[in-house]
Amino acid sequence: MDLLPPWATPARLELQQQARDLARDVVLPLADELDPVKGEMPRELVEQLAARGWFGITIPAEQGGLGLGVFEYCLVSEELATAWLSVASILARGQGLGTQVRDDARREDLLKRSAKGEWIGSIALSEPNAGSDLAGVATTATRDGDDWVLTGHKRWAGNALAADFIEVLARVREPGPDEPRSAGLEPFLVVKDRGTFPDGMTGTAIDKVGYHGFLTWDLVLDGVRVPATDKLTGLYADEGSAEDEGGFASVQRGLNIARVHTAARAVGLARAAVADTTAYLQEREQFGHPLAEFQALRFELATMAADVAQARAFWCQVAHLIDEGVPCESEAAMVKLLATEMAVRVTSSAMQLHGGNGYTTERRVERYWRDARLTTIFEGTSEIQRRIISDRLLPAARRT
Ligand SMILES: Cc1cc2nc3c(=O)[nH]c(=O)nc-3n(C[C@H](O)[C@H](O)[C@H](O)COP(=O)(O)OP(=O)(O)OC[C@H]3O[C@@H](n4cnc5c(N)ncnc54)[C@H](O)[C@@H]3O)c2cc1C
Repeated sequence: MDLLPPWATPARLELQQQARDLARDVVLPLADELDPVKGEMPRELVEQLAARGWFGITIPAEQGGLGLGVFEYCLVSEELATAWLSVASILARGQGLGTQVRDDARREDLLKRSAKGEWIGSIALSEPNAGSDLAGVATTATRDGDDWVLTGHKRWAGNALAADFIEVLARVREPGPDEPRSAGLEPFLVVKDRGTFPDGMTGTAIDKVGYHGFLTWDLVLDGVRVPATDKLTGLYADEGSAEDEGGFASVQRGLNIARVHTAARAVGLARAAVADTTAYLQEREQFGHPLAEFQALRFELATMAADVAQARAFWCQVAHLIDEGVPCESEAAMVKLLATEMAVRVTSSAMQLHGGNGYTTERRVERYWRDARLTTIFEGTSEIQRRIISDRLLPAARRT
């Protein structure tokens, strides 16, 4: 499924082809081997992504990145997700994440490392009691001399053990009576060695239904010390971010990019399910005919393909809006909602059209279905996207 005008340019088509080749030749065999045993993607694969510059797609060329946009970031991610969702997701742990330190020289150095895939992180926003309601984050950061001391409980931190750093959202003070509940929440950079947790932090891997390829961690922080210089100005490298609006506002802006990125990943999963189903309908015979001859199944496949194409067109548009600097929080929520719900529907139909073989680990369609199921939950659930959209259509609802 190539890009169509007006989005297609020779450079984008070439990038798409590179990502498609790597997905087919390298990622897919690894996913087939490792996903059934809940294995992690090997370091050599991460190095192959890094060698192509894909941890720095959105980092300016002056800092060693590819200097491209959210569009290209989504384009590569869609292709990788056709093979293994987690490989598309690991790219989000570069792209300048964990570089928003105040010292210019250090920020420059970290950006260069991020672009090279030498500064790959983990994001620890969520907590056992703060998921959709991130303003309810209860992890505290207390100043002690030249350090901040972090104490609390984080949940769902993907890639935390393998990471070079963990971004931790913590409360530095209680909100004032006239402030939003998010006031006082700030992101901190916990620098660490790969393969270990820092002093004061213990981690337990969460046993998930899918999304294998990297581990997802429950983290207990008991007095983790962070130098004052490592309180960040914002979670994401973004124009005009942070200082004046506070760290929480920049977290929200970064979530917009994360939402369109999730939409693109969901399209990748659904595309793969359509491709496998197209092949299966021609391969499998019942009642003396290939399944592909039964009109009901042909029409179902046609609907699946149309749904994928629609979601694809929508993420292209929203990524373009973000790259053009057009405010599009509502559209980012819409594309996340529609593309991920579409991926759940399409991968489920793909399993149905595979019959009993679809419900085995012998076929990839079960992996696409398990991974698609996550996309309506993480990066803000479907209900939260509907809340964002409806809040822009209607007067604010009375909430307790
Ligand atoms: C595999 C996986 C990986 C993840 N990776 C990360 C990560 O790397 N870093 C990180 O910080 N977090 C991560 N998350 C956390 C993820 O973002 C949260 O799970 C998600 O935001 C939902 O929060 P919750 O699980 O606490 O559900 P809850 O917020 O408890 O929601 C439960 C249900 O209530 C609904 N709901 C909640 N509030 C409302 C409302 N106001 N109106 C209507 N419905 C509502 C939700 O939509 C949902 O259906 C990950 C989660 C998973 C499962």
